[in-house]
Amino acid sequence: MTKDKIFSVGESVFVARYGNHEKKVQCPVCFGKKKVTLILGDDTHVELDCDYCQRGYEGSLGWVKESVERGEVNEYIITSREEKHTAEGVDYTYYAEHYSFPPSNVFATREEAQVRADELATKHKHNECIRAAANKNNQNKSYSLDAGYFLKKAKESRAEAERYEAKAVICKQKARKAKP
Ligand SMILES: [Zn+2]
Repeated sequence: MTKDKIFSVGESVFVARYGNHEKKVQCPVCFGKKKVTLILGDDTHVELDCDYCQRGYEGSLGWVKESVERGEVNEYIITSREEKHTAEGVDYTYYAEHYSFPPSNVFATREEAQVRADELATKHKHNECIRAAANKNNQNKSYSLDAGYFLKKAKESRAEAERYEAKAVICKQKARKAKP
C-alpha cells in the first residue's frame, strides 16, 4: 500500500475519481412505454405521461441516464503540497494544475488508483440510487395529485356542460313556448 506515502512536488501520481460516465438505460418507472397507469381505489385506470423520464419540451423519453460503476484514473504531476498540522498529525492536500486532491485519492500506481476510483464510483452510484428512489416516490405522489386534478377538472367540466345543456334546453323550450 502506498496510501500513506507522502508525495513530493514534481512527483508523478495517479489520482482516483468517481468519473462521470453515463449510459442510457430504460426508464425504471414506465419501462420505455413513456406512459404510466394509475389505478384508483375504484379500479379506474388512469393513463398519464411518465414524469420520471420527462425532459422539458421533449416530453417523456422512455429512457434515463445512469452513471457507470467505473471510476476514472488520471496521471498528474504534483505542483504543490499543503500541510495542515492537527492534533492527530499532518493533513496533506496535493495540488496539480488547478485541482486539489486529498491523499486518500492519490497513489503511486495506476492499479491502486483504479481500485479506489471504482470504490468511489460505486459509492457515487449508491447515492444516485438513493436519490432516484426518493424521486420515484415523489413522482408517485405527483401522479396521484395529477390524476386527482385531472379527474376533478373533468368532473367540473362535465357538471358545467350539464348546466349549460340544461340552460340550452330551457332556452329552447322557452323559445318554443314563445312561438305562437
Ligand atoms: Zn418513464
